[in-house]
Amino acid sequence: MNEHPEQVTQEANIVQSYWQHHRIGPYPVLSGRHHADVAVIGAGYTGSWLAYWLKDSGLSVVVLERDTPGAGASGRNGGLLLQGAAQLLGESAQTLGQAVAVELWQRTRQTFNWVEELSRRHALDYHVTGSLYVGGDAGEREVLEATVDLMNQAGVAARLVKRPDQPKSIQRLGYDLAAWFPDDGMVHPLKLIEALLAEAQAQGVQIYSHSGVVAGTEHSSGVELLGENFSVYADRVLIAQNAYVPDWVPALTGLIHPVRGQVLATEPVAPLDHQYPVYADHGFNYWHQRADGRIIAGGFRHLDLTGEVGTELTLHQPIQARVTQLVRDLVNGPVTVSDRWAGIMAMTADHRPLVGFITPRLGVVMGYSGHGSTVTPIAARMLKDALVDNTPVFAPFAAERMIPPQESST
Ligand SMILES: Cc1cc2nc3c(=O)[nH]c(=O)nc-3n(C[C@H](O)[C@H](O)[C@H](O)COP(=O)(O)OP(=O)(O)OC[C@H]3O[C@@H](n4cnc5c(N)ncnc54)[C@H](O)[C@@H]3O)c2cc1C
Repeated sequence: MNEHPEQVTQEANIVQSYWQHHRIGPYPVLSGRHHADVAVIGAGYTGSWLAYWLKDSGLSVVVLERDTPGAGASGRNGGLLLQGAAQLLGESAQTLGQAVAVELWQRTRQTFNWVEELSRRHALDYHVTGSLYVGGDAGEREVLEATVDLMNQAGVAARLVKRPDQPKSIQRLGYDLAAWFPDDGMVHPLKLIEALLAEAQAQGVQIYSHSGVVAGTEHSSGVELLGENFSVYADRVLIAQNAYVPDWVPALTGLIHPVRGQVLATEPVAPLDHQYPVYADHGFNYWHQRADGRIIAGGFRHLDLTGEVGTELTLHQPIQARVTQLVRDLVNGPVTVSDRWAGIMAMTADHRPLVGFITPRLGVVMGYSGHGSTVTPIAARMLKDALVDNTPVFAPFAAERMIPPQESST
C-alpha cells in the first residue's frame, strides 16, 4: 500500500507490519480436551524459542497462540539484533556491577551463534553488519564510553565515533557522539519464528494458532487452561505473553507495563551511506536499510510517554509523522511509506525480563522492555533449563526478584 507521508491514516497498517507480509503457517486451531506435559502460552520470539529448546526434552509440548505466531511485538519490531539487554552495557554495569553486567551481555552474544546455526538450514534474512548507537547528551556520553571500554576489555573492537567520522546522512541529524558495535545485525523476525517453529514441529511440538487461553486454574496435580473451544490440562505452564499479562495470574499484577511503539517501512530508496542498524536518543529511535532499499524506522515514543501506553495497536499520527521526517532527513528528500504499524512492548521496573517458576507449575518469561531479539532466546533457555534440570535462573532475570515464589494455589 502506498500513501503520501502526510496522510497517516488509521487504515494504513494497524492490521499487520511490513514483516507480516511474509506469511507463515498455517498452524491448526485447537479444539477439544487435551493433556500435555508442558503448555506454552504465546508464540512470539519467546514462545517459539521455548518450543525450539523443548523439542528434544522428551516432554509433550503444546504452544497456544491466540492470533498467529509473531502477531505480537515479535512480528512488529524493528528487526534489529543488538547485543545486551534494554540497557547499554555501560549503564547496566552501574546497577548490576561490572562482572554481572558483562556476563549478561556475553550471554546475549550467544544468540548470534544460535541464529547463525539456524540460518545454515533456513533462509532467515539474517545479517551481521555491526550497528551504530548515536547520542550525545552528557549522560549518554558517559555510558557510551563505559560500554566501549568494557567491550574492548572483552576483546570486542567497539569504538567511539565522533561527528566528523559519522556517515554524512547521520551527521545531518546532529549527534555529537556515536559508538560502533561490530557484532550486531538484523534478522527478519517472521522468518526466524517460522524456522524455530518448523524445527520444533518436526520433533513433535504441537503449535496452535487462533487458540487463545482465556482462563487458567492451578491445581496441585496440574494447570487447567481454557480456551473458547478447548481445554488443556498441563503438568507445567510457561507464560510467554510479554505485554499481554494474563489476568488469572494475580502475582503478575502491576509488574509489567504495556507501552506502544510506532514503526514504518518505506518503498525502496537509493542506498544510504550506512547499511547497518542505527539506534539513537537513548535507544528510543532506530532505523536500518534493507538489501532491497527499504528503510525500516521507528521510535519517538518519548514524544508522548503518557499517551503511548496500553495494548491497543493504534497508529499515533504525530509520532508516525515524526518518524517519516526522520527518514526524509536521512535520504535528504521525499520518501514513500508503504507500511505503518504499532507494536506493544512490555516494560519492567528495572528493564530486565522476569524469568522463572513463580509456583511449582507456573513459569513466566516476559517483560523485555523493548529489547528482546537477543534476550528472548537466552531467557527462554533459562526457563527451559529450570524446568528440565532445575537450573537456577540467572539472578538479574530471576522472577523472584519481584515475585516471591509461592506454593501451588489449590
Ligand atoms: C515497535 C517495537 C519495536 C521493537 N524493536 C525491537 C528491535 O528492533 N530489536 C529488539 O531486540 N527488540 C525490539 N522490540 C522488542 C521485541 O520485539 C520484544 O521484546 C520481543 O518480540 C518479545 O517477544 P515475546 O515473544 O516475549 O512477545 P510477543 O511477540 O509480544 O509475543 C507474545 C505472544 O503472546 C500471544 N498471546 C497474548 N495473550 C495470549 C493468550 N491469552 N493466549 C495465547 N496467546 C496469547 C500474543 O498474541 C503474542 O503472539 C520491539 C518491540 C516493539 C513493540
